Amino acid sequence: MYIYNSASRKKEEFKPNDPSIVKMYTCGPTVYHYAHIGNLRSYIMEDVLEKYLRYQKYNVKRVMNITDVGHLTSDADEGEDKMLKGAKREQKSVMEIAQFYTDAFFDDCKKLNIKRPDVVEPATNCIDEYIKIITKLIDTGYAYLAGGNVYFDTSKLNQYYIFNDFNEEDLQVGVREGVDEDTNKKNKNDFVLWFTKSKFEDQALKWDSPWGVGYPGWHIECSGISMKHLGDDLDIHCGGIDNAFPHHTNEIAQSESYLGHHWCNYWMHVHHLNTTSGKMSKSDGEFLTVSLLEQKGYDPLVYRMFCLQSHYRKTLLFSWENLDNATKTFDKLINKIAALNPDDGDMNQEVFDQFHQKFSDALGNDLNTSLALTCVYDILKFDTSDKTKLAVIDDFDYVLGLDLLKKAEIKRQANKAAAKATAGAAEYQVIAEDGAADAEIEEKLKNRYAAKKAKDFATADQIRDDLKAAGIEITDIPNGVKWKKI
Ligand code: AMP
Ligand code: ZN
Repeated sequence: MYIYNSASRKKEEFKPNDPSIVKMYTCGPTVYHYAHIGNLRSYIMEDVLEKYLRYQKYNVKRVMNITDVGHLTSDADEGEDKMLKGAKREQKSVMEIAQFYTDAFFDDCKKLNIKRPDVVEPATNCIDEYIKIITKLIDTGYAYLAGGNVYFDTSKLNQYYIFNDFNEEDLQVGVREGVDEDTNKKNKNDFVLWFTKSKFEDQALKWDSPWGVGYPGWHIECSGISMKHLGDDLDIHCGGIDNAFPHHTNEIAQSESYLGHHWCNYWMHVHHLNTTSGKMSKSDGEFLTVSLLEQKGYDPLVYRMFCLQSHYRKTLLFSWENLDNATKTFDKLINKIAALNPDDGDMNQEVFDQFHQKFSDALGNDLNTSLALTCVYDILKFDTSDKTKLAVIDDFDYVLGLDLLKKAEIKRQANKAAAKATAGAAEYQVIAEDGAADAEIEEKLKNRYAAKKAKDFATADQIRDDLKAAGIEITDIPNGVKWKKI
């Protein structure tokens, strides 16, 4: 597999350190609110990566943190605590907020067929890990105490920027958001490892530490949790592109300074889902969640398909019109699959292998999901048995996660029921006992039959009563009805 590595800014062949296990780490959600569908774009594409690695027969251990402490409203360490803000908004405790939105996040993931990582670890579970790392960083001169907080000293590094050549303006994150610079910092990019003092209202969750009662910074979480579960090295680290700086840059700084060696080999960053007014966020305009999509009548898997239609390294523009188009494409695809006959012909292993390879090659080229989707259309058009086509689609769907066969089977059953109902209606006879056919009465009696079939007995009875009032008597017979004027 070739994957674009944001750290080298090149597509590279993927080779895990230990071929028997791929160690994968994902930055999890900050659980102060629902995830928006932009956040979920990142998790969908990371899910595709994980499933593709498994499809390629790798053993994968994937770890995800849950940020329930330390993430401030500014990624540059200034700003209010997001969890505290959420708790105040809903008049609940921080832990209640964390539990509620963690559950909501995994409910959304389930609806989008995003597999739960092997390890899910709340940041508040690993305080000892952070203290261990920070202690060593202070002892080795990489961190310092100032104004009650512990900071990482970025001037101690040979290379701080990993993912981009940042210019001065890009570095003004905190300043741009209207926040005063932290005067405790020796260098502009230094970041907090441990807080005991914040100029904002105090955190509810605090722990004892060698530097006083306080709480960890956001970045140290991911280093601590990754090392706890995956050890001293990592194959792939994922996240949305906004995580590249400062979050991932700081993770690398502190992890490598602590370990004394290179830490993670591949960095995969998913680009943003934007709306016409810019990057999607939880505070601006319409807050787009999976529940909102459902309320508007969209199948969450249509959104997954929408994400797969474009490359993860391109910004994706969300609009209702785009989602409507994805719905049409998805429905058409399901109809095509539903038209296949599961009992048709024999399984052709050669064709299966050929398509398996084609699909692998598409995804093996830096996760080209749109090309992988076209493989589904290619097999549908290919001259082979329906049985083979269905087996190939099932194989693809392990990675695509669109429930293609399940949805096609539901559609097939619905088509069968509709065909039976139509046939039944065609066989239904309306007999005029005195011989004079009447189109209007016939139609009313067929409507009554349709209502009965649909278990709408109120309408059926109403039609009978109306006819009676008009002087028509009806008698049900097997597969039909007789009527006469009285
Ligand atoms: P958060 O809950 O803010 O910690 O973010 C969770 C994940 O969503 C992170 O990996 C972010 O980089 C990612 N993310 C945030 N906004 C977007 C967006 N508009 N499109 C795609 N991914 C995003
Ligand atoms: Zn992280």
